[in-house]
Amino acid sequence: MKISVSMLSSYLFCPRKLFLQRVLALEEPPKESIVLGSLRHEIYDFINQQEEKIVTSIKDKAQYNDLIAIYKGFYSRILREKIIKNKSRIKGVNLDIVDVFKKTWPLILGEAETRAKNIFDFIQKYNLYGNELWERLTPKIISEQRVESDELQLRGIIDRIEVYENGYVPIELKTGKMPKEGIWPGHRIQIIAYAMMLEERFKTQVKEGFVNYLDAKETRHIVINPFMKEEIANLVKEIKELLKNQEPPGYCENKNKCTTCGLKETCYNEAEVSTLLSELQ
Ligand code: SF4
Repeated sequence: MKISVSMLSSYLFCPRKLFLQRVLALEEPPKESIVLGSLRHEIYDFINQQEEKIVTSIKDKAQYNDLIAIYKGFYSRILREKIIKNKSRIKGVNLDIVDVFKKTWPLILGEAETRAKNIFDFIQKYNLYGNELWERLTPKIISEQRVESDELQLRGIIDRIEVYENGYVPIELKTGKMPKEGIWPGHRIQIIAYAMMLEERFKTQVKEGFVNYLDAKETRHIVINPFMKEEIANLVKEIKELLKNQEPPGYCENKNKCTTCGLKETCYNEAEVSTLLSELQ
């Protein structure tokens, strides 16, 4: 049975938590960060699906201001629609929909500016418009792409892939806190796993990947090397062992993780964990 890439990062965060969720079937209560994160994923996915329509509608003599106006109009409509669609989930974690709009709009506006600039520069260079512009435009962006690997026994969904003439670049979009330097271990392992899966699927070498920390508006780079495949294979092996096991791993060493963990109460209640374990027998 293939395991999901998100399990790799959950395992690195806390093996005990992965055990509680996957073996004892415990669920974390909905959290503000999870609701906002999934809303942003939904918006970015929709934005990417609409990109061809926007680009092919761009006509002769379009200036940067015209492009940014097209993107801003389109994206503000998408944001409003998606917030309304997710209204009950947003209210369920005590958030106000107007505040969510205000908080999310700067991120979406940043995306609009980046894309408008990319298109404007491309038009300046090649003087192409409409369908021809879309056909020649690089990078093309694919979002929410399902991938799986028989060799690594993994499956997952890549947030974003940038497709260039000479290769593929996986990108993860993350909300929440960014580390002072580099990439959180769980995010790093996801990018590596996706790079390996893209290599297998497209029979090409994937040399790099990125994590885009949306709230911090910063993108961090990771260089991929072939030795990382062993690291992924070892983790998959350890997780498969864990899922077969009837014995929960110990508590995680970093107690800061427990402070934010939605399973904390059950996790530290040994009697409850024992009862759940005995129900597995
Ligand atoms: S409370 Fe701490 S040890 Fe328990 S599952 Fe959560 S992070 Fe892991």
